[in-house]
Amino acid sequence: VKREGKNMYQFFDESIGSCSDSFLDLETDLQHAIERQEFQLFYQPKLDLATNRIIGAEALIRWYHPEKGMISPEQFIPVAEQNGQIYEITKWVLKEACRQSREWTKHQLPSHVSVNISPHHLYRRDLVQTILDTIKESGIQPNQLEVEITENGLVQNVDTAVETISKLKKIGIQVSIDDFGTGFSSLSYLKTLPVDTLKMDRSFIHNLSEKGKDQMIVQSVIQLARAMKLTVVAEGVEEEDHLLILKEAGCQIAQGYFINRPVPNNEYVKWLHDSHF
Ligand code: C2E
Ligand code: CA
Ligand code: CA
Ligand code: CA
Repeated sequence: VKREGKNMYQFFDESIGSCSDSFLDLETDLQHAIERQEFQLFYQPKLDLATNRIIGAEALIRWYHPEKGMISPEQFIPVAEQNGQIYEITKWVLKEACRQSREWTKHQLPSHVSVNISPHHLYRRDLVQTILDTIKESGIQPNQLEVEITENGLVQNVDTAVETISKLKKIGIQVSIDDFGTGFSSLSYLKTLPVDTLKMDRSFIHNLSEKGKDQMIVQSVIQLARAMKLTVVAEGVEEEDHLLILKEAGCQIAQGYFINRPVPNNEYVKWLHDSHF
């Protein structure tokens, strides 16, 4: 048995060795990333289409590894979710985003901030308390903070999700369904989940300029959301055409490269002053 085990290990090692090695490296390095202040938040503006004004920004994490350079959240967030490091990371993200939001308020800048919360957090008891503590400590108003949770994460355990979202809403925090339309959830969850906002996934926006199925889906989602008194945010707006079509269709908020890319706070603030929005 022992020998078989060894052979299996060797086989494993040779075929995906480099892949699992870098996974392990990432895990070890992640442990130090917070202490060594290797994380940074970038901010991407959200545009209110009715007023043509920026209402705030989404905070997106960046990791500058001392040797490997910038590592995308799409690479390290899944690792952190698997090994539990995500809880420390989220705490840092919340703290940093709330601190920044408070700074924006002081400078009379749009002060709404949204953070991405891993679905794993919904199923831990301390999420609501952590958020509450962070808000109090930072001195922001609860309605300055929004949490974005992916659709798939919300429907794994709907009862718990409903309970947590209800608590957050009681405090005054906004909750949005991220990547709406890409999950395997049924529309009936819209009745159950007490969320405020739907963020339409950028895959629907990409081909919006062509008359086709994406256009019909986007228009229908906007109508549905409005009928249910939900706010709709379109993400991945890359062209002026997208913006015009979305506006015409009644979408309230847009986000995407056409408006601005996610950038560090100093660049974001500079952009706020210079941009025509
Ligand atoms: P997401 O929440 O759906 O964030 C939107 C992603 O789309 C961001 O990628 C953003 O840079 C990108 N994006 C924005 N506008 C456009 C556009 O016009 N065109 C295109 N093609 N892309 C656009 P990013 O920053 O690499 O983040 C990727 C994902 O990583 C996020 O997807 C989110 O799921 C996750 N993530 C980012 N920051 C955090 C965090 O602090 N905590 C957690 N748990 N997840 C995070
Ligand atoms: Ca998001
Ligand atoms: Ca999204
Ligand atoms: Ca996404």
